Amino acid sequence: MAARKPSFRSRYSVLSLIRNALSYHDGWAQAWRSPTPKEAYDVIIVGGGGHGLASAYYLAKNHGITNVAVLEKGWLGGGNTGRNTTVVRSNYLYPESARFYELSLQLYEGLSRDLNYNVMLSQRGLINLGFSRHEMDLFGRWSNALQLNGIDSEMLTPAEIKKLAPLIDISPSARFPLHGGFIQRRAGIARHDAVAWGYARAADAYGIDIIQECEVKAVRRDRGRVVGLETTKGYIGAKKVGIAVAGHTSVLAEMAGFRVPLDSCALQAFVSEPIKPVLDVLLMAGLVHVYLSQSDKGELVIGGGSDAYNSYAQRGSFSTIEHTVEALLSLFPAFSRLRLMRQWAGITDISPDRSPIIDKTPVENFFVNAGWGTGGFKAIPAGGWTFAHLIATDRPHPLIEPFGLDRFRTGALIDEGAAAGVAH
Ligand SMILES: Cc1cc2nc3c(=O)[nH]c(=O)nc-3n(C[C@H](O)[C@H](O)[C@H](O)COP(=O)(O)OP(=O)(O)OC[C@H]3O[C@@H](n4cnc5c(N)ncnc54)[C@H](O)[C@@H]3O)c2cc1C
Repeated sequence: MAARKPSFRSRYSVLSLIRNALSYHDGWAQAWRSPTPKEAYDVIIVGGGGHGLASAYYLAKNHGITNVAVLEKGWLGGGNTGRNTTVVRSNYLYPESARFYELSLQLYEGLSRDLNYNVMLSQRGLINLGFSRHEMDLFGRWSNALQLNGIDSEMLTPAEIKKLAPLIDISPSARFPLHGGFIQRRAGIARHDAVAWGYARAADAYGIDIIQECEVKAVRRDRGRVVGLETTKGYIGAKKVGIAVAGHTSVLAEMAGFRVPLDSCALQAFVSEPIKPVLDVLLMAGLVHVYLSQSDKGELVIGGGSDAYNSYAQRGSFSTIEHTVEALLSLFPAFSRLRLMRQWAGITDISPDRSPIIDKTPVENFFVNAGWGTGGFKAIPAGGWTFAHLIATDRPHPLIEPFGLDRFRTGALIDEGAAAGVAH
């Protein structure tokens, strides 16, 4: 059943843009409302990151369910969605992941139009760099698997990589001599907060209540099923609850009385001072543990591996920064005089096989969307799409059947450790 289609055009027309510009935005309509919570909803989504907001949007758009609230303890996108390095790609090794992430990339390709909000998708290509014959053999297998799954991928020689990223050191005397790589040309970056805001505005236009500064403190159950949530804005009843809280999934699961196989670890990223355009592809070097791109502002956006211990502190350790910078300079000696401008971290939810979990839980009508770890920004559209399907129909979407909790009991793991080896 299709829900009421919001009329963006009337609310956000060119004339209104001009009027607001001339009036210095006095009276500019808010992109979404700030409603007081109702007593109860058909569905509550906990977590106002990309996955929570996309799930709410697709509940309305695909399933006609609009009596929905999204509860966010801070501000929209203030979790990992607003802290990530914005890489979107679908070059995963196993068919289950390839199918899922390819749907996500295809949804990204139409997202600005669908949401009528520019998410600034820039498909500039992503190159995985290889530094040994062994790694190149692995890349050959990986690239073939991608092609068999219908996903674009090409092997590259060092000279071809140098053409695409001229500052990279491919000399034999480099600290880690480059053997080659493979590229997914459709991969790229998208603007992270635009993704959160675009989904939020579109969900709000369907009448969904987005409630910020509303922390869930307890899960109320009755005979094994969820009936509502205790929050900092009072008790709110719910027929169904979906959690999409990334690094805090185990905290919410504990409130509901079950455990999830997830580690919570800080993942860091940082940006350099802005410089002229020097890099218009994304580079990922799993062996030395660094990946980078250049933002529209000119900053180099740099990431590496996760911190090696569990924590809820959104800081990250200095040794990881040191290690990542060391790796960066081994590839790009020319960047040694750059200054780092900002550093930050987010708390990621890492599953044993580095694959996500979208499933029902031991508590009836309580659903979980988690385990995105270091790579769930690219998964937001498909994560929201399939989570909404699960909540609306009580059945897993075929694409997420392999990503249930039961796989940790049966051993049917989807080990994407290689694809997620360096955070992205
Ligand atoms: C440094 C870094 C770099 C990354 N780079 C990439 C990348 O390049 N590409 C990629 O695909 N992925 C990347 N990721 C991973 C990606 O950011 C996440 O997987 C994704 O954003 C998860 O989205 P989410 O909506 O599940 O979680 P979040 O965006 O974290 O949203 C969860 C929300 O839940 C809220 N919440 C938590 N507890 C409660 C509560 N009790 N009550 C109410 N609300 C609560 C939080 O405040 C938060 O806003 C990166 C992550 C980090 C940290």
